[in-house]
Amino acid sequence: MGASTVLKNYINGAWCSSSATTHLDIINPATTDVLATVPLSSASEVDQAAQAAQAAFVSWRRTPATDRIQYLFKLKTLLEEQLEALAQTITQECGKTLAESKGELRRAIENVEVACGIPILMQGYNSEDIAKGIDESMIRQPLGVTAVIAPFNFPSMISFWFMPYAIACGNTVILKPSERVPLTMQAIVQLLEQTGLPKGVVNLVNGDKTVVDAILDHSLIRAISFVGSTPVAKYVYSRAAANGKRAQCQGGAKNPVIILPDADIDMTTRIMADSAFGCAGQRCLAASIAVTIGGARQPFTEAIADVAQSRIVGYGLDDNVQMGPVISAQSQTRIEGLIQKGADEGATVLVDGRQPSVSRYEKGYFVRPTILQNVDPTGDIARTEIFGPVLSLMHLETFEDAIALINGGQYGNMACLFTSSGAAARKFRYEAEVGNIGINIGVAAPMAFFPFSGWKDSFFGDLHGQGHQAVEFFTQTKVVVERWKDWTRQF
Ligand code: NAD
Repeated sequence: MGASTVLKNYINGAWCSSSATTHLDIINPATTDVLATVPLSSASEVDQAAQAAQAAFVSWRRTPATDRIQYLFKLKTLLEEQLEALAQTITQECGKTLAESKGELRRAIENVEVACGIPILMQGYNSEDIAKGIDESMIRQPLGVTAVIAPFNFPSMISFWFMPYAIACGNTVILKPSERVPLTMQAIVQLLEQTGLPKGVVNLVNGDKTVVDAILDHSLIRAISFVGSTPVAKYVYSRAAANGKRAQCQGGAKNPVIILPDADIDMTTRIMADSAFGCAGQRCLAASIAVTIGGARQPFTEAIADVAQSRIVGYGLDDNVQMGPVISAQSQTRIEGLIQKGADEGATVLVDGRQPSVSRYEKGYFVRPTILQNVDPTGDIARTEIFGPVLSLMHLETFEDAIALINGGQYGNMACLFTSSGAAARKFRYEAEVGNIGINIGVAAPMAFFPFSGWKDSFFGDLHGQGHQAVEFFTQTKVVVERWKDWTRQF
């Protein structure tokens, strides 16, 4: 790999050079080295992938589920064998620490493991004698060609919320990784190739909006799984729906956390720091607003400021580094601008992470952990997804005020509560209008056998990724009613 390496697409079981005329540099955000270049493929390359996937679907759907999952068992083994190398690639192109990269790979592998249960997960049901001698059953069948469009912040894991289920159910897939971090999926598709997966079952097309639009408009593609920012999620959902496709589109977030006076402040601080500053805050489940109630204010504010100041920031491949850079220079500028906007709206910049100097990586796109205090709950900064290591502190009088703040928000990805009261926890779980809830948990990331939920502007669609809902999404139900004459005669 190096600046002269141009990534290829994987179509119909072959690595092909793209006919793209435009390429982007893939930049290591800590060192700013160019790792390789990625082609921005054309609509005709999407068409080639869709044709190959459609042709492969004919025999793939006839392959017994028990045979289909053998490829996933092999993939799990290969992912585990290659975990270290893949984690290094994630850190190099995305910036997170090596431990965080390994963590996301483990989450990807979990989804492969769950999808290996497809022979039972995909079963239908039946009723005998719905009328005399007539039986009725529901069977699940795959849809055909599906597509997965991923964001930059989890180069491996997010495609695995969908892809293993799609192929286990008998569909074929086109993967479109983020053009900012395409190296990881390139390496993973090489592993899929090593499993002996039949050609055309999984295809990879690198690119940007042009590829996404071609996917959304292609008549052979039946279903779209998208994860990214809310405006794009909304756009993808509406264009997919207008073209008659099934779509599940996960969007952005602004995740509030309530800290009650009876919370264990040491534990809360440790967990909150990981939630707000882990992956440099570039996580759709990152805590971005901490609302203290009553006496929680002073001890939490002091403790979180200490932790924020002492976080070790650097290149994720170096030992002991706790937080890496953000993805790009534009992102760094945007985050720093939003910190200033918070200050302009009246917040105090209690810990200021702008313009840090990170020794040996002076050119890297770093923003250190930042704490904004007394953020105006009605201001812009309280509502804008910053997607960087910035935690906004607010103080409200009552628990009910804090729940009302959550429920008045645009997004509904996650909300957390820190408390030692079971009654408060139940009220919160019952009343908070978000799709993922954490109680004394800072990143309520669902295991692979639960849906990755999300409400309001954090999700457009009906069925989420992972687990049973992924199986529902990647299958269509067929109901069969049947009658056989003379079945009671003597044979
Ligand atoms: P993004 O929306 O910029 O890009 C996501 C994908 O859409 C990429 O593959 C990109 O090529 C494509 N794309 C970008 N602009 C497009 C356009 N105008 N038309 C068509 N396609 C387009 O998102 P990102 O910056 O890569 O990722 C960060 C965002 O993703 C954040 O908002 C974050 O909250 C969100 N996210 C959400 C979840 C979740 O589970 N809800 C998980 C991870 C990330």
